[in-house]
Amino acid sequence: MTSDKPAAGRRLEQMEELVSLCARRGFIFGSSEIYGGINGFWDYGPLGVELKNNLEALWWQRVVRERDDVEGLDSSIISHPRTWEASGHVEHFSDPMVDCRSCKRRFRADQLDEACPEAPAQRRVSACDLTEPRNFNLMLQTRLGASEDAASEAYLRAETCQPIFTDFKRVREASRQKIPFGIAQIGKAFRNEINPRNFTFRSREFEQAELEFFCHASEREKWFEHWLEERLAFHRALGFDDAHLRTRAHESDELAHYAKQAVDVEFLFPFGWQEIEGIHDRGDWDLTRHSEYAGKELAVTDPETKERFVPMVIETSVGIDRTCLALLCHAYEVEDLEGGEDRTVLRLHPALAPIKAAVLPLSKKLAEPARAIERELRRHWNVFYDDSGNIGRRYRRQDEAGTPFCVTYDFDSQEDGKVTVRERDSMDQDRVAVAALTSYLRERLEPVG
Ligand code: ATP
Repeated sequence: MTSDKPAAGRRLEQMEELVSLCARRGFIFGSSEIYGGINGFWDYGPLGVELKNNLEALWWQRVVRERDDVEGLDSSIISHPRTWEASGHVEHFSDPMVDCRSCKRRFRADQLDEACPEAPAQRRVSACDLTEPRNFNLMLQTRLGASEDAASEAYLRAETCQPIFTDFKRVREASRQKIPFGIAQIGKAFRNEINPRNFTFRSREFEQAELEFFCHASEREKWFEHWLEERLAFHRALGFDDAHLRTRAHESDELAHYAKQAVDVEFLFPFGWQEIEGIHDRGDWDLTRHSEYAGKELAVTDPETKERFVPMVIETSVGIDRTCLALLCHAYEVEDLEGGEDRTVLRLHPALAPIKAAVLPLSKKLAEPARAIERELRRHWNVFYDDSGNIGRRYRRQDEAGTPFCVTYDFDSQEDGKVTVRERDSMDQDRVAVAALTSYLRERLEPVG
């Protein structure tokens, strides 16, 4: 078998390349495509859902399962509407918007230095005939039950953390946790973004993985530092290098009025540095407000000092979709191969790769023993089987899907009981005994970090 070693690769330059690969290979594509799509909504196909599930599983493992001071939660998407009054979202969760009197489009008042969609080559939006800014609430509203009155109005949650606060007492008592401890949840959030854009980066429906960590006021700085470090270590373990990952502390005028400090974790996308996660010191704002609005006591008593206090909250809030997008951008590479060919490869960490191994018999005649290998590997991982077409092309398809290992069963395999295992990045090939294949792959598909 030949080895077609890669020369230097080129990274992702234009988002269009990635958008097209994602649609073609079934990672991510527009929702309701057959109706022309719906702005700000995306579907994750067979490869995308695996990538997303793998990322969520890693987060859950790191933030919840490996710790005895964090509990998990899966709350409903719709909460009692008073929740969003208490949280301040009904009053304050809005962006200032302007309307164009000529084309009737709506723009965010802080994003006017962009090409006008009607005449991109001629003017910026700021030069259009715009109205004065008006606040536009970003929460998505819905109605419950049959009646049409105001009492039936409800909201799709704008962030996953609010139910964590309203469930705080129940979870603490049920799990018998003492302060400090945290509650974590992964789930959908909805925002009626005026300008969804940059692929999945700004969507109207997206997934957040949030941790609210409750502590005493005397320890809030300590826990803030702890979680900032933990979260940075997580992003580094996903494979993000220092050239693409940085933190940015909020200036005091950027902070929410209740927040003491906030740091964004930013990733360098082809469209610039952008936030993928926020670490916030939310103080006792949320518990105090819910306590007030619900008329329920949410303070705790220190068992030793008997001090009664409302815990402070350190929050880590990461966008799953934004992190998946960052992973795809970071992994994407086009390499020139010897012989004038090139290959597109997604260098995803093996623990995140949607398919862990592809079983590729050299000929359809070898399907039976190759299928037996596939069945064995499927007991452990998501595996793909492909026996059609030229082997080089089959490798390329797996490179593009980010599959770390291809297992080829050839005519010698019947004689020596071995298969060829090709590694995605180096394209190095190893001859491995079929009986040792599972342990060979297990060693190399080790979990992150
Ligand atoms: P931005 O300023 O970019 O709108 P934000 O500061 O409002 O984001 P947070 O409310 O802190 O974001 O939400 C935490 C995380 O949720 C963000 O870091 C991001 O990863 C994700 N997120 C927020 N809004 C969206 C969105 N519209 N689409 C996709 N992910 C989002």
